[in-house]
Amino acid sequence: MSKIIASAAIRGAHKYVAEAEQKLAEAIETYKPEKKVGFPNTAYHLPLILAILGLKVETLKDCQEALKHAKELLPPLPEEQLWLPYLGDALDAGIATLIAEEIIEALRYLDPSYKPEPPWLGFTDDTILRTQGIKLVDGRMPGFAACVGALPTNRDAVELARALQERNILVFIAGDSNGRSMAEQLADEGIDMSWDTFLVPYGKPISAAVFALNFAARAAMTFGGIKPGSFDAARKILLYNKERVFAFVLALGADPGVNGTGQLLTDEKYATAAGAINFGFPVIADVPIPQILPRGICTYEHVVSGVSLDKIVQKAIEVRGLKIKISKIPIPVPYGAGFEGERVRKENLYVEFGGKYSTAFELLRARPMDEVEDGKIELIGPDIDQAQEGGAMPLGVIVDVAGRNLKPDFEPVLERRIHHFISCINGVMHIGQRDIPWVRISKEAYEKGFRLKHYGEVLVAKFKEDFGALVDKVQVKVVTDQAQVEALLKEAREIYRARDERVMGMKDEDVDKFYSCILCQSYAPNHVCIVTPQRLGLCGAYTWLDCGASYEMDPHGPNKPVPKGVCLDPVLGEWQGVNEYVRVASNGNLERVSMYSIMQNPQTSCGCFECIVAVLPETNGVMVVSREYQGETPIGMTFSTMAGEVGGGLQTPGFLGVGKLYLTSEKFISAEGGIKRLVWMPSELKEEIKERLQKRLEEIGMPELFDKIATEKDATTSEELLEFLQRVGHPALEMEPIVQ
Ligand code: SF4
Ligand code: ZN
Repeated sequence: MSKIIASAAIRGAHKYVAEAEQKLAEAIETYKPEKKVGFPNTAYHLPLILAILGLKVETLKDCQEALKHAKELLPPLPEEQLWLPYLGDALDAGIATLIAEEIIEALRYLDPSYKPEPPWLGFTDDTILRTQGIKLVDGRMPGFAACVGALPTNRDAVELARALQERNILVFIAGDSNGRSMAEQLADEGIDMSWDTFLVPYGKPISAAVFALNFAARAAMTFGGIKPGSFDAARKILLYNKERVFAFVLALGADPGVNGTGQLLTDEKYATAAGAINFGFPVIADVPIPQILPRGICTYEHVVSGVSLDKIVQKAIEVRGLKIKISKIPIPVPYGAGFEGERVRKENLYVEFGGKYSTAFELLRARPMDEVEDGKIELIGPDIDQAQEGGAMPLGVIVDVAGRNLKPDFEPVLERRIHHFISCINGVMHIGQRDIPWVRISKEAYEKGFRLKHYGEVLVAKFKEDFGALVDKVQVKVVTDQAQVEALLKEAREIYRARDERVMGMKDEDVDKFYSCILCQSYAPNHVCIVTPQRLGLCGAYTWLDCGASYEMDPHGPNKPVPKGVCLDPVLGEWQGVNEYVRVASNGNLERVSMYSIMQNPQTSCGCFECIVAVLPETNGVMVVSREYQGETPIGMTFSTMAGEVGGGLQTPGFLGVGKLYLTSEKFISAEGGIKRLVWMPSELKEEIKERLQKRLEEIGMPELFDKIATEKDATTSEELLEFLQRVGHPALEMEPIVQ
């Protein structure tokens, strides 16, 4: 390793450790050593420290412990010209740096009102980790780029971002060069930066780059199933990243402040880069810093420099060995998941469909093999060149798929993918599904030659690419003729209705198997979700049908069929087959699980529940609180405090983590009397599920109950709540005691 880089990295590490020590000492003086410290919504404490040291940091005191380890790792400060023959010293300095940086960043969150200033986003929580991180390890995202610094012009910044987005490469941004940051450049150009657009600005100080690495470390723990706590685990986490998370660092621009030292970048940047190299992430720079070419920790070179901007993405892909699966979709505009969250605003609108503006629908049907002509795209009615600029046209999209392994039950699951596939077209916005889609095509896309035929091309290509195991043939019909759209819409509505009856009407009694999900076992090692037709996974992301489709697509994945076996108790919802499965899958920690009870052997909770249901003994009912609600609740705890008590994969009678859809299921805590027990929920949640809730209350013949369910506007303490319930005559008060 070049001695200049090594000594700079070691100096940087010393600076960071000293800074962390000082800030920590200040924090301990302001608060006390036992003061809790951590990032929002994560089960991984300070994730990088957990991964590397196996240390669960919960308090400021624990931070001191972590820093002690960092200091032990620190190599002595080098003399300016000292020859450092070993890479090891710089790598240790890199690890020490990351530990110090994570503490520095975590200390900001001591202030409960702390929020990073826009455009910066700060720490990535576990919910995003689960939805986005999986894409990194299953190959949907080929990797991530940690961009540090700034580009010569805003235009260069936009071009670099587009080049990465187009290849589905996730872009993390941190640090500045010469006071300017790539994120600020993109913000100035009005570029939308969020997880939806694959552009994630972490923070302006270079220490915020640690968020990219603690994200990578959590990906290894979550998806690689690596349980932290040992030296071996730390090694595995780093190896997992080297082998599975294809990431690289782009060092952009020079720091003129260090001129005269012979260095082009600051010590802090070198130190952070040394941390990234430990993960097997190489550094590609546009300025001519010293290169480190021999292969070792990284798959290829460690540091490659002096790469011109127009070649930097290609070079990074080569160096890191990214496998870019360019979808060969014959359309005239870029395509990639990075465009999924993109909006088309009124000023850029060429033509739109649906929404409030015209009739539109989309339908996917499973057809017999001989009724689908693979790749056929038919347009019935005028194309968009006959539209009035800024106007609306009707639209019907019918996707017919055929496949030997395809089942009618998969139709809605596949149909829901249309949204995802169409949104990934640069210049096309897609919202909604079924008979409520709203689609916009931008002027730019139209000018580049995008037409409705391309809409079909995308669907044909993507269904085959992503669902190759299920789908053998795809054909698409795009209809813009008003009369025909209306006629077909009638037929489509019949199908939606029948499907609702089949899926929504599907009862646990109608199936002989449930599905399991064990995706969350990496941090809640004994947690198992059992997913039934009437009770989806507690994260809200997996319904019974989704689990079935997921199993079909990947039999070795996290979802397995669980035969119900003999019913031991129909009221509690206890089956022999489920108990047997859970016993094994929970590593012998659980003996029995009731699917429908909050009091007797309830399901365990991992940590990513959409809502928590909690018994309020004094009201003889239950309250439910959703993750979005941060205020006080009548149980005297906020959502996050409660989450700490309930999570971790333990059975906690009286508490239940659930998905939102389950709240209006017939099987919602039916062993305790069901929805009649519900006495309190946040108003936002009540509004969100209003329609379903009203329908459910009508079904049980108690429509008036809707107004008797209190919200934070009626009560936030148990005394206020009880008073409210008595005043309105809530039925829970008259029910059998919920706590025996
Ligand atoms: Fe985790 Fe359960 Fe959701 Fe699976 S269904 S991801 S185990 S919460
Ligand atoms: Zn979970």
